[in-house]
Amino acid sequence: MKRIYSAIDLPQAHLLAHRLREAGIACHVFNENLQGGVGEIPFTHAYPEIWLEDESQEARAWAIIEAFEQPAPEGSPWSCPGCGEENPEAFQSCWACGRERGKTS
Ligand SMILES: [Zn+2]
Repeated sequence: MKRIYSAIDLPQAHLLAHRLREAGIACHVFNENLQGGVGEIPFTHAYPEIWLEDESQEARAWAIIEAFEQPAPEGSPWSCPGCGEENPEAFQSCWACGRERGKTS
């Protein structure tokens, strides 16, 4: 058993543990029950930890953790049909002329 990761919260810990298990890496989430309940302020905040069952899988586990920590990839930019300006994926209307995305007329 080897501790490989401290998550910021329990949902994150479980999500990552799920990814690891999907990849065939046996792991356990610890400190699940040490966080204070709603409205309580614990004196010491224990972060959920992920432990590997098999230390020889550590390198593979790290590859998954690194992918897990990457922000979601940005979509491809789109060109405004009205003025031709390029807009980031997140924009729903053209920053230059205000035309709505996807409208062709
Ligand atoms: Zn435009």
